[in-house]
Amino acid sequence: MFKKSKKIYEDAKKYIPGGVNSPVRAFKSVDLDPIFIEKGKGSKIYDVDGNSYIDYICSWGPLILGHSDEEVLDGIDHILKNGTSFGVPTEIEVKMAKLIVESYPSVDMVRMVNSGTEATMSALRLARAYTKRNKILKFEGCYHGHSDSLLVKSGSGAITFNVPTSPGVPDYVVKDTIVCKYNDLESVEKAFNEYGDDIACIIVEPVAGNMGVVPPIEGFLEGLRDITSRYDSLLIFDEVITGFRLSYGGAQQEFGIDPDITCFGKIIGGGLPVGAYGGKKHIMSNISPLGDVYQAGTLSGNPLAMNMGYNLITKLKDNRNIYKELEKKAIKLENGLNDIIDNLNIDCHVNRIKGMICLFFGKGPFTNYDDVKECDTEKYSIFFKKMIEEGILLPPSQFEGWFITYAHSDEDIEITIEAANKALKNTYN
Ligand code: PLP
Repeated sequence: MFKKSKKIYEDAKKYIPGGVNSPVRAFKSVDLDPIFIEKGKGSKIYDVDGNSYIDYICSWGPLILGHSDEEVLDGIDHILKNGTSFGVPTEIEVKMAKLIVESYPSVDMVRMVNSGTEATMSALRLARAYTKRNKILKFEGCYHGHSDSLLVKSGSGAITFNVPTSPGVPDYVVKDTIVCKYNDLESVEKAFNEYGDDIACIIVEPVAGNMGVVPPIEGFLEGLRDITSRYDSLLIFDEVITGFRLSYGGAQQEFGIDPDITCFGKIIGGGLPVGAYGGKKHIMSNISPLGDVYQAGTLSGNPLAMNMGYNLITKLKDNRNIYKELEKKAIKLENGLNDIIDNLNIDCHVNRIKGMICLFFGKGPFTNYDDVKECDTEKYSIFFKKMIEEGILLPPSQFEGWFITYAHSDEDIEITIEAANKALKNTYN
């Protein structure tokens, strides 16, 4: 089934650490070798051996309309012929910034970068410079990219490989990173009681999407807004996953919270490398060349990513029905999985919010990292393998959300439920 993939992987391991350019792609935690992909269209991807899969990785979030959407790709040929990067500004950067600013009331100005990692790293620098404080507060199981001060008790591949705090991150860098429990305001209040006047910001995934999918409990985000305001600290929403996904206006629209800085990525590049951070004018004005906070990028705002992102966001803006459809599909999948769980009487649990969903191999409820890490990852690994045999590609880790796109049809969801029924029966036999 995976002959060509295996061959490429053997070569890959010689030249690339672990054979992959991002750890989760190695499929290690599900005890398989990675599959190598040839192409994607709509909800499906096709590997080099000719196998096709209904895809729930979907590039880990950017492809909210599915693979190779014609409207997202519109104009790309023209850019390829006329130059992909100039090192001087282009109009599409301004159109993109205007679109983001008009879509997010908390964002008066926005700066484009090349990845979510850059966005959060730069947002922290800005918050520290603006408040003239050094400490930052993050949550266990939240992942904000791999910059040093944020790679502490993080989620995503870091939990998957059991290295939530990476070697190579010096103690003196993380001594100013305070880690609290997600959905636990008391732990935050305690940290602020002790260090409040030194805390530059809280950074949070408003819906945690890197320890599976863990929504905020009622009052959690409001509480963070309140605490940061009381201490003149900044609230940074990392909406790299949730931005333009949870709803058009992201988690901040969904929960009615007004963060000081927002980080974007994934969807806003339509599948090309991108990131952005934006916020209130009085804060953003400190960024160079308007202010002294330095941050730059050779390929930042490059026309290819800007064009793809602009096309995608415009389509989302013009057709809000997409969000209703995404949620409908996620609910259909949730209901299907819950029926199976009930019928088989197994300790599995579905977490879902809007179009974001994942299946935990444990009884639940799952509201923070402590809950999530109790999951039976061996069972997830068996389930993953059964699903791939059925033509369903899930994230190769228990600690990631499943990405549904507008391109997933009702039939795709039905096939997925049927496959899950078979796979779960086998997993628990
Ligand atoms: N923030 C969140 C919430 C993410 O999920 C990710 C990546 O998955 C990042 C930041 C880092 O983004 P990137 O991988 O583009 O550096």
